[in-house]
Amino acid sequence: MKTDFIDIRTDEKRALSEAKRLILSGEVVGIPTETVYGLAANALDSEAVKKIFVAKGRPQDNPLIVHISEFSQLSALVEEIPEKVSLMAKKFWPGPLTMIMKKSQVIPDAVSGGLDTVAVRMPKSEYARAIITGCGVPLAAPSANLSGSPSPTRAKYVLDDMDGRIPLIIDGGVCEVGVESTVISFVGEKPRLLRPGGITLEQIEKTIGEIDVDNAVLNRLEEGQTASSPGMKYKHYAPKADITVVKGSLEDFCEFVSRKGECFVLCFDGEEKYFSNALSYGRIDDGQSQAKRLFDALRELDEMGAEKVYARCPDLKGMGLAVYNRLIRSAGFDIVEVCNDKK
Ligand code: AMP
Ligand code: MG
Repeated sequence: MKTDFIDIRTDEKRALSEAKRLILSGEVVGIPTETVYGLAANALDSEAVKKIFVAKGRPQDNPLIVHISEFSQLSALVEEIPEKVSLMAKKFWPGPLTMIMKKSQVIPDAVSGGLDTVAVRMPKSEYARAIITGCGVPLAAPSANLSGSPSPTRAKYVLDDMDGRIPLIIDGGVCEVGVESTVISFVGEKPRLLRPGGITLEQIEKTIGEIDVDNAVLNRLEEGQTASSPGMKYKHYAPKADITVVKGSLEDFCEFVSRKGECFVLCFDGEEKYFSNALSYGRIDDGQSQAKRLFDALRELDEMGAEKVYARCPDLKGMGLAVYNRLIRSAGFDIVEVCNDKK
């Protein structure tokens, strides 16, 4: 299959009409959103949705997020809208927030991975919204990477992974947030954070009070444990390079790395000068800038031929929680702590 590539910033009319034509004829299209690029298909068409799983190589039990462009589209997709969902939607939609509810009959099993729930988000990206509105149907869209690799925050990375696998990629520039949406389940007694993202835990709790944080947000799911979110079971965000996350001060980190052989360092802006092979992923005190850079940096490390990478550990406050959640997964949970008596 030939993969067409259209820049929506310069060719909006053709981008929207081609995306609509292909999606409504049951095809999958790579689209920009404010979080990361998505692989979009008509969420109400099982056969189209199945093509997403094939293109990504995604396990079929890992459900997809359904994207809408108007709040009024939600009621048809779910059994009922909990009050806290309405509150959250009022405050954070459109935006990087996904909410899980009991699904209605219209959601195919292919979308929900056989679960009786559905994850819904209203993206903020004007391009994503124009594509959804143009199609007139909700769009199922996971991140547009091959399953297991870092999510793409630029159209060229979608092309790297999806060339020949999908008929069209829409280029809308660099994604503003850079990591995937925050996922909260509203199915149990108390809302539960399943994945940290663009909307922070602090922002959520200010709006609807205390919520549960799933154990898998900060820890590896142990064998035999049931995943609240099927995606938690699978390898994620991993570049080809082997990554180790190193907790500790800059001084101890430098000491630790100096005793290693040939390696690369993933550090914060301005720290590159301390290492021979270093790439930075944002400012030390700014989770938002780290989120925007992290997945790009992981792909750049591969382009640089890095084999072994030691990464500086972010602070867990605000967006830092989402950055840490992605980084430890990209490292396959290989985390070391360095202090004066080193490992
Ligand atoms: P992605 O679209 O690739 O960013 O991944 C979506 C994430 O949301 C995955 O981790 C899914 O497992 C999770 N997810 C989607 N739908 C549900 C659902 N109904 N229940 C629990 N988790 C879900
Ligand atoms: Mg993904």
